[in-house]
Amino acid sequence: MKRPLPVSISGVTIQRAAWRLGSGFKRLDAPAHARSHGRLADVRLALTLTAAILSAAAVHARSPRLQAPTDNASVETAARSVRANDEKTLADQVRLCEVPAPPFGERARAAVVRDMLHAVGLKSVRIDREGNVVGDRPGRSPRPNVVLAAHLDTVFPGGTPVKVRRAGSILSGPGIADNCRGLAVLIAVARALDSAAVQTAGTVTFAATVGEEGLGDLRGARTLLGDTLKGRVDRFVALDGTGESITNIAVGSRRYRVTFRGSGGHSYNNFGRANPAHALARAVARISELPVPSRPKTTFNVGRIGGGTSVNAIPADAWFEIDLRSTDEAVLATLDRSVQKIVDDAVAVENTRWKNGALTVSSERIGDRPAGRTDERVPIVETARSISSRLGMSTALGAASTDANIAIQLGIPAIAIGGGGRGTGSHTLDESFDSTGSFRGTERALRLVVALSRP
Ligand SMILES: [Zn+2]
Repeated sequence: MKRPLPVSISGVTIQRAAWRLGSGFKRLDAPAHARSHGRLADVRLALTLTAAILSAAAVHARSPRLQAPTDNASVETAARSVRANDEKTLADQVRLCEVPAPPFGERARAAVVRDMLHAVGLKSVRIDREGNVVGDRPGRSPRPNVVLAAHLDTVFPGGTPVKVRRAGSILSGPGIADNCRGLAVLIAVARALDSAAVQTAGTVTFAATVGEEGLGDLRGARTLLGDTLKGRVDRFVALDGTGESITNIAVGSRRYRVTFRGSGGHSYNNFGRANPAHALARAVARISELPVPSRPKTTFNVGRIGGGTSVNAIPADAWFEIDLRSTDEAVLATLDRSVQKIVDDAVAVENTRWKNGALTVSSERIGDRPAGRTDERVPIVETARSISSRLGMSTALGAASTDANIAIQLGIPAIAIGGGGRGTGSHTLDESFDSTGSFRGTERALRLVVALSRP
């Protein structure tokens, strides 16, 4: 279902060619002992060709062809309206943030987003079986279909105060940046396209997803892409958080709750029974010594431990929760197997230690996010970088865990981008958002979906 952007003569295409030549040159340059005269001639040729292509790229960069994604007058009108409506975008951000959206409790905020998307002219605005809000903006043809998505949920439990405070350019409140900024930009892009009557080539589908955070485990994106829009998504852009980030690497994770169980008993009278807490400690001690690569960055964390009834009782159970992460799915799977083996071994060792022991262990998977990446040379990444560069924004690429993980797993070209401005204190009650210049994030998202809707 991958539909690559057309390979036409453009600055972007030429940059790609230059990149290939450039890497070829690096290979030639690497081993000093291999620098024969013939090789040096090859190197000079490569340099000359690279220079020629780069200068050709510079010429094309000034040509109208590269301006194609933005040369449409209505798109420029839409971009101006984004800047003119910046206060409206910020007001939406505050309004959305003051509707609680705890994990597994996004319904009220979803209803507000549904009404907002309806008001900005989207067609067939609906809420799918998982609770995602979905609305279409048909283009000249149904495909390509670009999905612009932002997650509805916060990490904060129900009952958390959601009043937003404003002091000048600073907005403060739980979730104001992650992800009320993404939601506000989602609405603002739809509004700008509508107000300027932009006719996109393909369709743009807007989605506000549930369950991105924590134990939500990307359930909204899974249903959205695996069911609601199954087989109808060509490109996927998640608006997540703030800033100028472009995320093309999906950090995968697996999370478990591991529970050790035994018969329990009196600490003195029943001494000699296998102890679930001791087995847990054996396991965690060995996990803490596991070697993991720094590239691809791979991590483990035992985040919570619990169990037992009293200091003078052998516990009947003990449990821990562990988070394993990597940007590489195979490395993550290997780490996962190592942890499971350590857990089984810990039970065996504890049972052997006390001979009469009958400990058992169960490992419940409470999170599973696929790792992956959208290659930096594919058009969705190149387009995002090129637009960012033209707007004077960062073109750096990064890694994160977002709704885009699911799209990448399904083979859909996908990235996540920040919604502009600057967020601090993410996932804390002190979260805040500096809106200075944040309209650029909205403008980037707007220009990106227009460009990506082209076949
Ligand atoms: Zn987020």
